[in-house]
Amino acid sequence: MAWGFSAECDDCGHHWDALTWNERIGEYNADSYSYFCPQCFVHVNIAPDLDRYTFPKWLAANQASIDDARILQHIVLLINDVAANSTGLLIPHAAYASRMICPTCDRSLVNGTIDDTPIVCQKCNSETARSTGIHSHVSLARVEGLDDQL
Ligand SMILES: [Zn+2]
Ligand SMILES: [Zn+2]
Repeated sequence: MAWGFSAECDDCGHHWDALTWNERIGEYNADSYSYFCPQCFVHVNIAPDLDRYTFPKWLAANQASIDDARILQHIVLLINDVAANSTGLLIPHAAYASRMICPTCDRSLVNGTIDDTPIVCQKCNSETARSTGIHSHVSLARVEGLDDQL
């Protein structure tokens, strides 16, 4: 699901509207980690307790959704890599979290959400803009690839 939001830049004063959306790895719960790309405005929620037995089942059940989103494919590869190179039931979050990037813009994902994280101004390119609020729901599953469809 995508949402429209308004943004403004503290540096150059630019105001604009854009879309933000959410992706998910594992079942959502209140302790899920929140990551965010400040350039593309995509969020990824990651379950805090991924383990090597239930994660492959979640993957199998959600494969279609993952195939559609490069950011999920990238994170799944990292998690599988960490799972293959660690022992114990839980897949250690820190071992892959620091390596997560946004494949669209190559930035490292930041810990946070659009509500509490500075975003990149689409005019001056400095990371000094912020969301001034979500104002609409947009019936798009993903914004990724939108440019190709227009
Ligand atoms: Zn990005
Ligand atoms: Zn600006």
